[in-house]
Amino acid sequence: MDCVFCNIIAGKEPAEIIYEDEKVISFLDIRPINFGHALVIPKKHYENFLAVPGDEMNAVSNITQKIAEGVNKGLGCDGFNIIANNGKAAGQTVFHFHFHIIPRYNTDRFNYRPKLKSYDIGSMKEFAEKIRIAVNK
Ligand code: 5GP
Ligand code: ZN
Repeated sequence: MDCVFCNIIAGKEPAEIIYEDEKVISFLDIRPINFGHALVIPKKHYENFLAVPGDEMNAVSNITQKIAEGVNKGLGCDGFNIIANNGKAAGQTVFHFHFHIIPRYNTDRFNYRPKLKSYDIGSMKEFAEKIRIAVNK
């Protein structure tokens, strides 16, 4: 399996590494939405959010918070987005799980808000029920 992020971890591919420990590594995204856009990933290869075991997800989450603080303070941005694309339909292009930390500025005019939908009467309950059943299985 050829994974660009595994290659970065193995040192076979160059990257601007920000942080590294036993379980987690963070480096800059090569094609940033804003400069300083960072990625945080588990060192072990897991395809997406659902595949990452709890203890590693805890480590990745804690480091994501630490890096987000560094992005915020270090760059003096006005805000930041933390996102994870899961699955092709959601825009995932590298199938090694990662959080994006995207610095945001009041003036950046980057707008990813889609047109929001409205539920038909009663349908909100149906959606909630489908998810509740799956969650509580
Ligand atoms: P996704 O689209 O899967 O949510 O995000 C993958 C991200 O990885 C993209 O934003 C892309 O720019 C970044 N990326 C892809 N290849 C490389 C690479 O070789 N080095 C670095 N640093 N980032 C990469
Ligand atoms: Zn990988």
